[in-house]
This record gives sequence, structure tokens and C-alpha cells, in this order.
Amino acid sequence: TRRESASVEIFPKQNMASKYAEVINKLRTTFKHGITKSLEYRKQQLKALYRLCKDNEEVLVRAMKEDLNKPKFESVVCEIEFIRNDIRGMLINLEKWASPEYTSKHVVLMFDSTFIHREPFGLVLIIGAWNYPLQLTLSPLVGAIAAGNVAVIKPSELSPATARVLEDLLPLYLDQNSYALINGGVPETTELLKEQYDYIFYTGCPSVGKIIRNAANKHLTPITLELGGKSPLYLDKRVNIEIACRRILWGKFINAGQTCVAPDYILCSEETQEEFIHMASKILSEFFGENPQNSSDLARIVNKKHFQRICNLITNSTVVVGGDFVEEECYISPTILKDVKISDPVMEEEIFGPVLPIVPVKDVDEAISIINSKERPLSLYLFSTKDEVIKKFLNSTSSGSFCVNDTVVHLSVDTLPFGGIGNSGMGRYHGKYSFDTFSHLKAVLKRNFNPVLEQLGSLRYPPYTDQKMNK
Ligand code: NAD
Repeated sequence: TRRESASVEIFPKQNMASKYAEVINKLRTTFKHGITKSLEYRKQQLKALYRLCKDNEEVLVRAMKEDLNKPKFESVVCEIEFIRNDIRGMLINLEKWASPEYTSKHVVLMFDSTFIHREPFGLVLIIGAWNYPLQLTLSPLVGAIAAGNVAVIKPSELSPATARVLEDLLPLYLDQNSYALINGGVPETTELLKEQYDYIFYTGCPSVGKIIRNAANKHLTPITLELGGKSPLYLDKRVNIEIACRRILWGKFINAGQTCVAPDYILCSEETQEEFIHMASKILSEFFGENPQNSSDLARIVNKKHFQRICNLITNSTVVVGGDFVEEECYISPTILKDVKISDPVMEEEIFGPVLPIVPVKDVDEAISIINSKERPLSLYLFSTKDEVIKKFLNSTSSGSFCVNDTVVHLSVDTLPFGGIGNSGMGRYHGKYSFDTFSHLKAVLKRNFNPVLEQLGSLRYPPYTDQKMNK
């Protein structure tokens, strides 16, 4: 079936090494000729990418439906419109962000200028993930184009329909001498990684992140790693449980839990656990009806391997909501587990599926100590109205981002950097941070030949006499 065959076989094997070298040579030649450095060119390519998303909305929605049964609303809002918005922001700000950034300077440099010149790295490799197959592939590309790079784009093979559509569409809109999309799985990516790049941008799991970093090390290539992990959520007492519950369940079950910043598990008191479960059943039936399997608003698990992995995590847990699955369609109903212990299997790895465990804790301190006993997460969520609790979490935990009283939406704020720390990644992007990620910040000092200033500055020249030392 489609889900079983979501592997490399669907992509034709070719004489990979030589083919890639040829493509890479072509891109490098374009970069060497300075074509992508022109701001006009960058804008033109960004506008073309915008048109790609606009003209092909239906095709893209269909592809994401095929890959993940992604609801149309989610495909449009979280993927297509996300990219269009990203491009709009780049087009509005491009001139400003690409201009020299003058810095403050010491009085001795009064007649000189000091500024940062942003130059493109050159050839960028972008490796995307399957859960938001359009957003995670094209959003880094928007940054790479805006900053004036040429790029190789490798979508995830686990979302083959979107990968294929992108392979067909990209050359129709973008300059093929500057941007090349290469599809494939592990063997192809391994082969691609043997080539030399000037920047690598990877989205995916931490274990592959290490492979990418090793490959980049060979040429000291700078990288961004957008990884994942278990993003915790602490639900304080006495918050508006209905609003909290809605925001938490939306963030957890959007894309069937396959979101890198989905709240992975909840920490709260036993009393709050009961209130939450009671409210959650009501809200979930509002969201997805009495039988979520019939809802057109719930995505499916990407493939059988992940389906099985998630089902295994539930075994031996106390299921209080959901817990139904249908293997043929990779369906898992929105599921809530209660009284989960920190030593349970579901607490060992990132769930990346529609399963929400609740771990009862005594108080804020116990919650913080559990969070701090694990790898540093991509996002940390706190639902509380108490300033001292917010401050305590902010100062005594570490995470890529921190969102208070909502989930997931912080990543759509394009004035905030998006990225992880430690095991959840390195580097950041979105908005200006994307532009800077794909730019080298070249430090420039520009002096003049003023003879008076030269006289003052001549102290630095040998011979280094005692008299000069004492001045
Ligand atoms: P995936 O399997 O699609 O892998 C991502 C990319 O890595 C793919 O393009 C794939 O071809 C490539 N890849 C896989 N194995 C490889 C190997 N051995 N060598 C070279 N390349 C290889 O995605 P995934 O890893 O299953 O994605 C899920 C993970 O990604 C989760 O941990 C999630 O939290 C994280 N994620 C992070 C973000 C973020 O923005 N920080 C976004 C989405 C997903």
C-alpha cells in the first residue's frame, strides 16, 4: 500500500554520485557568476515561489492529503499560507535586511566606517522532514533565496506525494540554474552529503542530526539542525480550564500529534488531571465528533512503522480517552493517558502522535525537576496566571522556546527566532533570523588616508620604543 511503500524504491535509482556532482557544479557556476546576489533576482525568485504556492494550492492540498490525510484547513493555513506569509515578509524587508548594518564605534574610528555586510554563503543544502512537508522544505528555501544563495533541496521521502509535486513544480517556477530539487531516501541523502556545501540546513530527528553534523565536519560546513524531543507542558491550578484545554488539545492533535513543537506530555496536580480529563472528552467530541475516525479534520500517522511505534507506547497505560486504532488506515484516535509515571515507556521518547500522557506531580518544583532531568526540549509550555510561577519556569528551565498559556502558535510569530537547544537542535530561523542564518555576517572596517589621523595612528608601527609605551 501507499503507506508501506513510502520508501526509497519509489524514486528511481540513478548513477547518483556523478549526477549530483553535475547538478552541484551547475549551481556553483551560477553562484560564482554572482547571479543570485542581485536583489532584483532574489525578489523575482521569491515572487515565483509565491506564485507556485498560489497557483497550485489544490494540487498541494491533495498531495498532503495523500501523505498524511492532512485536513485541507491545516494544509492551507500551516503550510501553503505559512510560506506565502514568509515570502511576503521577506519581500517587504529584503532591501533593509540586505543593507549594510552600521555599528557603533570607538572615538578613534570617528572618521572611518564600521558595518556588517551580509553575504550569501554560496551553495546550501536543505533537507526537509515529512510532517509539514511543504513548510519545512520551502521555509528554509525562502531564507536561502532571500540571502542570495543557490540551493539543493531534498524533501523527505516519507511524504512522497508532496516530494513528487515539488519535484514537478519547482523547475517550472524557479531558476533551475540556481535551485535544484533532488528526491530520495537514505542512500540518496548519504550520497548527497558526500559533496561539499557552504551551509547545511537540516530538519528531522536528533539521531540523523548527528549524521548530518558528522558529514558537515569534513568540510567545516556550518549547519542549522532543527530537531525535536519531548516538549513538556505544566498546567497550573486555577487557570481557565476550558480555554487551556482547547488550546492544549488543538496543539496536541493538529496533524495527529506529528508536530515538532506539539506538547508531548502534561505535568499537573492529581486534582487538575481530573478536571482536564473531564473537560477534554467534551472538547474532543466538539472537535472531532463522537467517532474521530469519521472526522475529516484528523490526520493519519505517516506510515505503519510509526503507527506501530506509537501503539507500542500505549501498551500497559491507563487510557482515559480514545485508545482506538485501525492499522489499515494508520488511524489512532486522540488518546489521553492518566497517572503516567516518569519511568513508563511513553515518557522515554518523543511521542510524535496523538497520545497525550498526564504525569501527576506534587508541585511546581517537582515539575521543574522532571523537566530538567530530561534533554532540553524544543518548546516548553506553561499554563498559569501567576507571575512568580512564570518567572520561575523561565529562569530555572532551558528550552528552544517558551510559550505561556498557548501551544504551537509561537512558531508563527515571525519576529521570534525558531530553533532548539542541546538535543533539540542548534541555530534558528523565521523572518529576519532566516535571512541571517543564510548570510555570513562579514565585518567591515573602512578607513581613509587622512594624514593627521595617520600621524595619530603611527604609534602602532615599530620600532616599539619605550617612549611609545609610555604615551
Ligand atoms: P524524516 O524521516 O523525514 O527525516 C528527515 C530527513 O532526514 C529526510 O529528508 C530524510 O531523508 C533524512 N534522513 C533520514 N535518515 C537519514 C540518514 N541516515 N542519513 C541522511 N539523511 C537521512 O523525519 P524524522 O526524523 O522522522 O522527523 C521527525 C523528527 O523531526 C521529530 O523528532 C521532530 O520533532 C523533528 N522535527 C523537528 C522540526 C523543527 O523544526 N525543529 C520540524 C519537524 C520535525
